[in-house]
Amino acid sequence: MKVKRMSQSRVMQLFAKLAEAYPEAHCALQHTTPFELLIATMLSAQCTDARVNLVTATLFQKYRMPEDFAVLSPQTLQEDIKQLGLFRSKSENIVATSRMLLEQFQGQIPQTLEALIQLPGVGRKTANVVLSNAFAIPALAVDTHVRRVANRLGLADSPNPEVVEQQICARIPSSMWSQAHHWLIFHGRQVCTARKPACSICPVSEFCKFYQTKTSAILTG
Ligand code: SF4
Repeated sequence: MKVKRMSQSRVMQLFAKLAEAYPEAHCALQHTTPFELLIATMLSAQCTDARVNLVTATLFQKYRMPEDFAVLSPQTLQEDIKQLGLFRSKSENIVATSRMLLEQFQGQIPQTLEALIQLPGVGRKTANVVLSNAFAIPALAVDTHVRRVANRLGLADSPNPEVVEQQICARIPSSMWSQAHHWLIFHGRQVCTARKPACSICPVSEFCKFYQTKTSAILTG
């Protein structure tokens, strides 16, 4: 069966359903400043947000500002974050980023994608998380959940996160980008999981390309 591209009105209906299903969707990384959000997001690579929150609860009591991290050696910081994966490279990047913020940005977090991705260890996803959650600048971060769910639903058709970002952003108003990121992540964590999507209880199965294809394959034998 050929699956038709979703119309614009269907895309908006799909997001309305996700909004209804996940009214509590928000940034799960605990932070009180843009800098703390930047550090927490850098720490979250290949780790759960819950695990990062456990570490930052203590870490941010010891160090809160770029000045605090910039004077550390990466080896010292490693001791504070060694419960997290990739802790050696994360330590190096956090110390280098803090130093760069002081040297080039007066200790402030820059508010453009171009400037943020100059910081060591900060990629497009992290930059978009900071822009949208710390500064309410329209941006849609694509992590592994967003990429998987968007491809299954038919909102995107690429393994490349930047292409997925462009494809989703092209289909919804910029005022929805940040929240769309949270809805897709919540859906990916709670229902449309990587190994076993719970299609039978999915609130958006009627819109889903993957589901339509699977159902059609069963019906046609
Ligand atoms: S129907 Fe299944 S594959 Fe499609 S979004 Fe829902 S859980 Fe994911």
